[in-house]
Parts: sequence; structure tokens; C-alpha cells
Amino acid sequence: MSTETGSFAFKAEVRQLLDILVHSLYASKEIFLRELVSNASDALDKLRIEQLRGASLDDLPLEIRIRADKDAKTLTVTDTGIGMTRDELIANIGTIAHSGTREFVSRLAETADAEKAKSIIGQFGVGFYSVFMVAREVKLTTRSFAEGEPAWIWTSDGKGEYAIAQAEGAPRGTSIEIALRDEDLEYADPARLKEIITRHSGFLGHPIFVNDERVNTVPAIWREPKFQIKPEQYAEFYRHLTYDTEDPLETIHVTADAPIQWTALLFAPKANRDLLLGSYQGQQGVDLYVRRVLIQHGNKDVLPEYLGFLRGVVDSEDLPLNVARETLQENRVLRAISNAVTKHALSHLKKAAVDRPEAYADLWREHGKILKLGYSDYVNREAFSELLRFNSSACEDEKGLVSLDEYVSRMKEGQVDIHYISGPSREAVTANPQIEFLRRKGVEVLYLYEPIDEFVMESVGEFKGKALTPAERADVAVLEKLPDEAGDESDKPAELSEDQALALPALLSRMKEVLGERVTEVRESRRLKDSPVVLVAPDGQPTTGMHKIMRLITKDESLPQKAMEINTGHPVIRDLLAVAAKKADDPFIELAAWQLYESAMLQEGYLQDPHALAERMRKTLAAASDLYARK
Ligand code: ADP
Repeated sequence: MSTETGSFAFKAEVRQLLDILVHSLYASKEIFLRELVSNASDALDKLRIEQLRGASLDDLPLEIRIRADKDAKTLTVTDTGIGMTRDELIANIGTIAHSGTREFVSRLAETADAEKAKSIIGQFGVGFYSVFMVAREVKLTTRSFAEGEPAWIWTSDGKGEYAIAQAEGAPRGTSIEIALRDEDLEYADPARLKEIITRHSGFLGHPIFVNDERVNTVPAIWREPKFQIKPEQYAEFYRHLTYDTEDPLETIHVTADAPIQWTALLFAPKANRDLLLGSYQGQQGVDLYVRRVLIQHGNKDVLPEYLGFLRGVVDSEDLPLNVARETLQENRVLRAISNAVTKHALSHLKKAAVDRPEAYADLWREHGKILKLGYSDYVNREAFSELLRFNSSACEDEKGLVSLDEYVSRMKEGQVDIHYISGPSREAVTANPQIEFLRRKGVEVLYLYEPIDEFVMESVGEFKGKALTPAERADVAVLEKLPDEAGDESDKPAELSEDQALALPALLSRMKEVLGERVTEVRESRRLKDSPVVLVAPDGQPTTGMHKIMRLITKDESLPQKAMEINTGHPVIRDLLAVAAKKADDPFIELAAWQLYESAMLQEGYLQDPHALAERMRKTLAAASDLYARK
């Protein structure tokens, strides 16, 4: 065993790193403390393992003590961990242990752009050497736990050399005394140190003291067994994490050990604060820990965007501590964790929806807007579709919510598809003639009030083998076979008379002629009862709801081409048939065709020319009042 003391030169790679660290105006210098504390915590973990293996140890408490001395301009970080022998000291501190870090250094060295270098550094953990961002000089004293090992002192100003000397009487563990640079004296301020520790290392398992005051009082509860944690503890942790004043709506706590170890503790907040002023502020992300050390605040790679309303912590033993943020996304381990966390979160929500429907309905009302974005997650489509909630014709008012499961359980015998309609409000959709037929058959209709809902329905496509079909595409042939709701058969309109039947083709073609390219065709309806006409999307064209979204996106103001169906049982159409029987090109038919078309468009939410509409209404009124006066 070598006992040589004296001066040694740093390896080239270390010199390179030191040079970069010292000469870049490091944006978040404070992370040097995270690195030292994390090393200290590792050293304590390693000692605990030795203890478990039966090593006989001094009776020192396992802890980390940080002492700031403003007058002496020093900061000391001391642990009672495993310590280092002389050889270990040279091997560990004289070189860059991690190949990842080495790679990082060479990448940095290649970066000609100083600004870019700075930002890369800011995203990395660079280990022990980051201390030289704030240190004029470092004196590290260490004694290995191994019996009979002497203590060693390692000193360096970080400029190319370090010295090693033997020390007397040092206790087990490592103590790092930092002589701070004049411009970095903030790190001799205990309040500042406490703040840094709380932010980066607040949940480390070992006690951390700053000038004898315990700092990390919140335990890493996600690491504790679920059955031991009380709801209040979860809530306290949640509030600590989010600064929310309320308790969370849902708490998801999952741990997996194989094939990859990870723990996730996620919360659904009561109020969605990401939707400030109604517009989405973007995903907040989770705190990503590696072995209880915070490596990224607000990580957006673990949870998909649609679960971004969840806040919390994800911790893994299997991620490298110094993984770069920009490569995290491509990290295979993180991707596997992300997939697993997503699956677990979805199945938790699904279960919550069954066990606590009220709470889930609150969650949906608050976070549904974000959650709906999950329509693009093809892999988890089934689980996702179970989480969807909509208002429907079966609800008493616009506040009610139903799941697709409930819908299916209520489907009529002989009903094949799940039907929906979109519109701005419950009033608007219930007045829409497109659902008249479905209502008559007692078929439930889901009411979609938000533009994204159409995308959700189109992408989800089906639920438990039942196609999700917009009301305007409902298969009349199938629905006709269903019995009308009780008592409705009696008020069926009388069959068309021979004259009326003869006039029908003339009326249809005259109306088409009048409306021209605005409609693809005018045909007799089999689905209407109360309304005189309905407009439906011709086959192969986007539904009304979809078209409206596209109009918004493309800023295209043109009106969609529709098929117009007329209700030959309706009194207005009957009168028009009588007019057509006498004179197919009577100007009143033209007026009526326009009026019927435009009011139907208006009901669908399209209003092109209010002046023309008002003018025609005046004309219609004039014709009606004239008739009325002559009666
Ligand atoms: P990393 O922590 O990523 O390995 P560092 O440069 O921070 O890189 O540290 C290099 C090595 O020095 C560590 O792996 C560890 O073996 C050793 N070391 C650092 N700090 C301590 C400490 N407080 N106690 C014991 N060993 C330490």
C-alpha cells in the first residue's frame, strides 16, 4: 500500500473540467452543494451496507453536517459515511470516475459557443469538482471506515495540482472545507444554504444539519411502505410540494421493483392551476429523483402531456445520477419508467372512477380538458376511453356526466352504435333536429360541448365493439327497427295524398335548384318528426362539429356543403307541397327554401349573412300576414 504524500497533477480530463467550470459563469452554481450532499449521502448509504454486512463501526450517528462561517468565509460539509483510503482518494477524486461525466467534459470542450457550454453545464451534475465553482481552495479530510486506516488530507486550489498528507485524529467519514471565493460568500449564509438544501435535497433519507439545525424534516415518504403512510402525511407532503393550500383530489402511490425499480407518488390537485385565465400554461412536470436526489424539477418526460395535470415525484434506483436532461428523453430506462407510470396512473384513475365516482367527476370537471388530450395515446386507448365522461340526454341537466360504460349498459335492444352530437350548450344540442329521431327511439345521445371532443370521438372510434357515431350519421335503417318510445305511434302524420306524393319530386328539385351548390341534394327524410328540415353531412365529408374545428384552424370562412332532408309530415312542407302541386316555380317556394335552409344553418351555428336572413324574414312575414288578413 502506497503511503506517498506530496503533490500530484490532475489527470488531463480533470484539468479540462476544472477549466470549464471555473471559466464559465455557471448559471446555477448552487448545485455544487447538491453534488456534495449527494456524495455524502451515498457515503452514508455505503456505510449502512457495510454495517449490515457486520463491520464493527465507531458509534457515530449517520448524518450530514454543514457549517457556514461568515467570518472565516468558509463552508464545511461533513459526513460520517464510509470515508476513503489514500488509494481511493486518488482513484476517486484524482480522476473522473464516471464515463458519462467524461463524455460530457469532452463534449463541453468541443463546444466553441460559450453560451451553449454554460447551458449544458447547468443541466449536468458534474460531481465533486463543481465545488471549484465557488471555492478558492478545498481541504478534504477523510478516514475510511476500515479498521486501522489512517486519515488523509487532500488539498487543492483546483488549478492543476492537489496535495495529499496524512492527518491525525480525524473521525470516520469525510469533511470538505471550502474556502469561498469573495464573490461567492452567499454560500456562507446559513439561510441561503438551508434554502438550497430544501430545494434540492429536502427528501434525502439521512439527517442534514446546517449550523446544527435540522433542515430536511420532510421524509421521502414515497419511499415508505404505503400501508404505513396516513392520508394526512400524503396531504402534508403534497402541500409542501405544490404550495397548494388544499388537499389533493387523488393520490397515486405506486412502486415497482422489476424489471426496473421506480416509485411514483402523484397527486391530482383540486384546482387546475395550469389553466390560468382559461388558456393552458403547459405541463408543470414532476420532480424526478434518482436515489432520493432531485435531478430535475418539472420533468416533462415521465408523464405524457394528458396526465400533466398530475403533480408529484418519480424516483428510481436505476437511472444514473448524472444523466443529462437533454438526453433524458432518449434514456431507455426513463422511457420504460414512463410507460409503466402512465399505465399505473390510468388504471388508478379508472379504479377511482368506480370507487369514488363523485370525486372522479370533480377531477374530470377540473382536469378533463387536459385528460382528453389522451385521445392521441394509441397504446393506452382502451384504458383512456374508460376515463371519458360526457353530458348526455340521459342526464337531468348539463352538470351530469356519464361514462361510455354506463352508456353501453343502457343501450336499446337492437341499437348498434354509440351516438353523440356536438354543440355549444345543452340548449343548442337538444334543439338540434339531428337528434330528433334518436330521441323518438329513446336512444341516448352523448352531448359534446368542447371542440376537442369531436377529435376524441373520431380517434377513439369505438368502445367495447360499438362504433362511436355522430347523430347525423346515425343509420336510419337500423334505428327505424327500434320501437318508438311509448305513446308516440298515435300522432303519426297521415300518409301523403296522391296529389302531394305527385308534387314531391317537383318540390325537391325546385328546392335544390334554388339552393344550388349550397346543398348536395334535397331529399325526403325518414328521421324527422317535429322539425321541417334537417341538414346532414353528406357521406365521406367531415361532420358538422369537425368542420367547425377545421374552420377555426384554417380560418376558412366558407360554409360546408350539406344534404338537406325535408320532413313531409310537417305542416309547412305539406303546405309547400300544395303550392308546388299548383305551380312548381311559385316564388314562395324559393323564399321558403331559403328560409328553411338558413334557419337550419343558424341552428348548426353558421350565420353567413344576417342582412339577407332578416330581409327574407320580413318578406315571409309580409306573405303570412297578407294571408292572415284575408282569412
Ligand atoms: P460521482 O459522485 O458521480 O461518482 P464525484 O466526482 O462526485 O462523482 O465523486 C467521485 C467519487 O468520489 C465518488 O464516486 C465516491 O466514490 C467518492 N466520494 C466523493 N465524495 C465522497 C464522500 N463524501 N465520502 C466518500 N466517498 C466520496
